[in-house]
Amino acid sequence: MRQIAMVLDLNKCLGCQTCTIACKKLWNRDPGAAYTYWNSVETAPGGGYPRRWQETGGRTPRGDVCRGEIPDLETDYGRAWSFNHRDVQHSDSRKGDVWLRPRESPQWGPNWDEDHGAGHYPTDNHYFYLPRLCNHCTHPACLDACPRAAIAKRAQDGIVLVDQDRCHGYRFCVEACPYKKVYFDTARQVANKCIFCLPRLEEGVAPACARQCPGRLRFVGFLDDEDGPIWKLVHRWKVALPLHPEYGLEPNVFYVPPLSPPALDASGRPTGEPRIPTALLEGYFGPRVRAALSTVEDERARRRRGEPSELMDLLIAYDWNESFKLDAPS
Ligand code: SF4
Repeated sequence: MRQIAMVLDLNKCLGCQTCTIACKKLWNRDPGAAYTYWNSVETAPGGGYPRRWQETGGRTPRGDVCRGEIPDLETDYGRAWSFNHRDVQHSDSRKGDVWLRPRESPQWGPNWDEDHGAGHYPTDNHYFYLPRLCNHCTHPACLDACPRAAIAKRAQDGIVLVDQDRCHGYRFCVEACPYKKVYFDTARQVANKCIFCLPRLEEGVAPACARQCPGRLRFVGFLDDEDGPIWKLVHRWKVALPLHPEYGLEPNVFYVPPLSPPALDASGRPTGEPRIPTALLEGYFGPRVRAALSTVEDERARRRRGEPSELMDLLIAYDWNESFKLDAPS
């Protein structure tokens, strides 16, 4: 079995949501998928999408699937809302008495807490952007939770797919996925999830989220391809780490954790501690965060001294073609 994988360098994510829109416009425009975001970009730390996604599902230490919960459409995903565009358009703008605002009173939604972050301004306020998609896990909880055998992992590339003809809409997969990256099509009453842009991939073209990213922070390729960017970042340089490895699913989407400037003390002097607490990053990416950050810092310093660095050349992605190493040309 081969495994396709993705690496995202969080030092380069600008939170522009181009990836989110590229995915949404390509795959999820139907009414039953209004709240479905196979790709989303969250502000971390934060509530995320759906809210509290980190709290249920996954596997026990023995490997059994945890039942988890189905996020609520109103309070955890949040319904799409409309704006009073017409009122604003026809108001007397000189008076400024009609402001653009939602017609309803939403309580949560995608990007609800965008750029809020944590800490205290101006000493240690911090946040980073966390783009998320299905991890096409090596041990997918969604697959094991399905009593209809409607979810399968392909041998040729490890992509996890839902057979919607077999799906009866029980949503055990939604409960079990600890990343909450299986959605439920409310119109068709079937499960719905990222397909890693399979039709593009079969033509040797990278997934839309990766190809459209203006920050060039996404790398795509096979995990066992020693000439490709994935193997180099995950295995040779060991700077790309899985999200929540403790969930026990062996995700195949990896992240280069973000560096940050130092926090300040009360008199405004740098404390020497990173502004994004290392413990926070370890909570997301596990115990190898310190080593990964230190490797990225060391290689960055080499580059600043004018010395060569394969890692920096790779992460900068001078030529976007080199970010994608698929079997056919991208
Ligand atoms: Fe299944 Fe969730 Fe893993 Fe994707 S991230 S393969 S939906 S368990």
